[in-house]
Amino acid sequence: MEHADLVFTGGAVITVDGADRIAEAVAVTGGLITAVGTAEEVGAAIGPDTRVVRLDGGAVLPGINDSHLHAAMLGAYWPAMWLDGMADGGFPVPRQLADRADRRAAIDLAADVLQPLGITSYTEPGLGPGARGQHGGACDDETLAAYVDAATAGELRARVTVLRLFGELDGLSTVADLVAGLDRSTGADDVDPRWLAVAGVKLFADGIPPMHSAWMSEPYLGGGHGTLMVEGDDDDARLAALRAMIGHAHRAGCQIGVHATGDRAVGETVRAMAEALAADADSAAGSDATAGSAAARRHYIIHGDAIGPDTLTTMAEHGIGVNAQPSIYTATPGMLEPAIGACRTDELLPLRSALDAGVPVCLSSDGPVTMPDWRRGVASAVLRTAEAGPVRGPDQRIAVTEALRAYTMSGARQDGAEDWKGSIEVGKVADLCVLAADPLTAPPEKIPEIEIRMTVLDGRVVFDREA
Ligand SMILES: [Zn+2]
Repeated sequence: MEHADLVFTGGAVITVDGADRIAEAVAVTGGLITAVGTAEEVGAAIGPDTRVVRLDGGAVLPGINDSHLHAAMLGAYWPAMWLDGMADGGFPVPRQLADRADRRAAIDLAADVLQPLGITSYTEPGLGPGARGQHGGACDDETLAAYVDAATAGELRARVTVLRLFGELDGLSTVADLVAGLDRSTGADDVDPRWLAVAGVKLFADGIPPMHSAWMSEPYLGGGHGTLMVEGDDDDARLAALRAMIGHAHRAGCQIGVHATGDRAVGETVRAMAEALAADADSAAGSDATAGSAAARRHYIIHGDAIGPDTLTTMAEHGIGVNAQPSIYTATPGMLEPAIGACRTDELLPLRSALDAGVPVCLSSDGPVTMPDWRRGVASAVLRTAEAGPVRGPDQRIAVTEALRAYTMSGARQDGAEDWKGSIEVGKVADLCVLAADPLTAPPEKIPEIEIRMTVLDGRVVFDREA
């Protein structure tokens, strides 16, 4: 056996493979995972030049995938986080990013925050002309160009998936802007897709429940149902525009992530995605082409605060995922209850129902809305309680194992990359998060306190707390 560069041994190697196996040790050689098993099995890979890291009862996870994270925006606002800032009484102000170099610096600053948290992959959800002039310029086309520059130079410090944005950020979108936008080059054709993949588009279907702008079946406490946030003078026209955008982006080969929070917005978005996917399957059935491209598309709902049971069934049938943010949920009952009441607040974030229905679930931070700390996200999804507050909707709690999968393997699936990242299996890239304690045996409320010891990206130690 070839000697390994790195071996982690003497703890819980939480593989997140298909059987959720726990191993004792893992070896890394030349950027890849080359052995996973007992300490004795993996010990055979230890040579004179191997760095051996004793886990001392700690654990190793696959590198964390924060699958909805505005990293350049995080860099522009750092160290402020939006929800923390609102608790202090004011919305934080970003630094103005004047040019591409400033945007590179913001992306780099984000990496300084993310690597000590064990994050090795993220999705930058929404870069493009729609965000021009907002958030210090952190989400515009120059930011996409800065990512392409960094990838071309081999200087990205996480694996990045980008969704482009042609409508307004948190605002109105039109079919014409989307069609024109998708005709423009991403500039990313020649970069290594394992480091930078411009996968598709982000669309906004509606707003958010606290602002009464999520499109809901049931009225808000003060009346009104919210509405779709796309062009059109009435619900029918807006729905037609949303469906046209989803259909167009799908036929253009894009992955589609749609911000949708109200149950009506989620339901109609899922219906449109399912129809686009079904049309592919029909045309493939009539020809020699396979339907593989449709299965590989990985469309998903972003946020999905309220999702009806029928919608969950359709999502599972078509492999449409939900990308949810438990830390936002547990931080905001005080904003949600005045809008929709306590009962409906408890029913939001239906993670248990989604998993039971077979819907792919990703968890993420939406940083800089919340700190990109997956440990807090896991605790929020498992406990559904804010500090000292009551448990909200106990039926929707999920297990730690499920939450860890939602931050690792499910993110890889969302990226269409489950064959080569997202779990600790031989042959996959060596992206790892090394912990001082085992989150599967720690009390869930203590998970946010587990120390992150090391982060390994592509086989290199990029963060080492002891160094
Ligand atoms: Zn977001």
